[in-house]
Amino acid sequence: MLVVMEKGTSEEKIQAAVNAIEKRGYTARPIPGGDRVSIGILHNKGSVDAAHFLGLDGVKEVIPVTKPYKLVSREFQQENTHVKVGDAVFGNGSFPVIAGPCAVESEEQVMSIANSVKDAGAKLFRGGAFKPRTSPYSFQGLGKKGLELLAKVREETGLPVVTEVMDVETFDLVEEYADVVQIGTRNMQNFSLLRRAGKSERPVILKRGMSAMLQEWLMAAEYIMEEGNNNVILCERGVRTFVRHSRNTLDLSVVPAVKKESHLPIIVDPSHAAGVRDQVISLAYASAALGADGIMIEVHNNPEEAMSDGAQSLYPEQFFKVMKKMIAIHDIVGKK
Ligand code: PEP
Ligand code: MN
Repeated sequence: MLVVMEKGTSEEKIQAAVNAIEKRGYTARPIPGGDRVSIGILHNKGSVDAAHFLGLDGVKEVIPVTKPYKLVSREFQQENTHVKVGDAVFGNGSFPVIAGPCAVESEEQVMSIANSVKDAGAKLFRGGAFKPRTSPYSFQGLGKKGLELLAKVREETGLPVVTEVMDVETFDLVEEYADVVQIGTRNMQNFSLLRRAGKSERPVILKRGMSAMLQEWLMAAEYIMEEGNNNVILCERGVRTFVRHSRNTLDLSVVPAVKKESHLPIIVDPSHAAGVRDQVISLAYASAALGADGIMIEVHNNPEEAMSDGAQSLYPEQFFKVMKKMIAIHDIVGKK
């Protein structure tokens, strides 16, 4: 249920409506909109009687919410959420690019890649310090040392850094170093991790589970928002299908579907979708044309020797060309 206040309603009237909602045992969540405030009603068991709130001072209308998710839905908030990180904004019609290696391997490696992707126009640097690997015998990431190297990248290049957090135990440590925390596909429904991310001050990139339906993904985002963190960026990274020609299948149609259902920004990761670099390039162009709110691409200075995901990592020169072409595509589709 959404209690929509009149345009320009005073703070006192909004607070009075909040109090009236909470007195009935519900949670009231004011949502500032373009020109009016709405108050979302959460934690109701069963339907809420609109008549309780229709007569309150300053209330314009009471709208039933038909979706199972609330805070993430466009029913609750019509305007797009803008997530600001450094001088990048996700969700305002621009297309910030996040680039970097799959894993942080050494100082020389991250510095070399960070300088290249910055020169090419990337706004954020990515790199995993804690890596969720299918095999326990594969490289697991440098851990804290990797986070320290990311901090060094930020210091020297000014690029904000994105890195994955794998569990609740290491959350405090990761958020101390990261500008944006990433929750990976394998953890999309790790509800205790989602709740912890909801208590964080850091924006969260929530990747789609590898076989998650749109509703499950939005429900996962709802966990984060329900704890109070509104800075959630969704990331489509491919879903598992029956095909063998690519690592996953990039579900491009989920981008307009998410935009219809939710006000949250959605970015695309063509690297983990494709698994091989020639496909990554084609999918990057498709993402640029599609109206996504940004992109995340793996780039490596020496992909042949990469400790993870070398086959899908672009060479820096390739990334440079991809950036140029994505700008040209944006000119055509009228994007910033
Ligand atoms: C990654 O971004 O490095 C990663 C492991 O991605 P995903 O969770 O999408 O597999
Ligand atoms: Mn990777």
